[in-house]
Amino acid sequence: MGHKYNKDNIFAKILRGELFCDKIIESDYSLAFKDVNPRAKVHVLVVPKKAYMTFTDFVLKSSNEEKTDIFNTILKVVEKEKIKESGYRLITNCGKDGHQEVQHLHFHVLGGQPLGGFIKKLNII
Ligand code: AMP
Repeated sequence: MGHKYNKDNIFAKILRGELFCDKIIESDYSLAFKDVNPRAKVHVLVVPKKAYMTFTDFVLKSSNEEKTDIFNTILKVVEKEKIKESGYRLITNCGKDGHQEVQHLHFHVLGGQPLGGFIKKLNII
């Protein structure tokens, strides 16, 4: 993983309209769309529209409006997908150890069914 944002990553192409996405909702600063390889009945990705590589990057560089907007967008997704009452899981993978595959910040919103335990216990290396 490089340290510089690569504007040719898949989500950047989606944001520019060069690649299709199954859009759920959009706001001034954020876009929510279905994950192409869903790991649960509901699996939506929420991304900031501006170029932030990781969660760390976003926290350090985004405006308060963008921060507020992405959390409100996540909540709107949860309401639209009707998982507010049943519950859901938010994940953002960050960097190499976090196994982040797409180098544009995204929150996974998972739900619509019981999701099981948090994470399998790993071998400590
Ligand atoms: P991560 O490992 O956290 O970086 O997750 C990347 C996610 O992006 C995976 O869950 C993929 O299934 C998803 N993904 C990859 N390409 C697309 C795409 N074109 N449209 C929607 N989701 C995608």
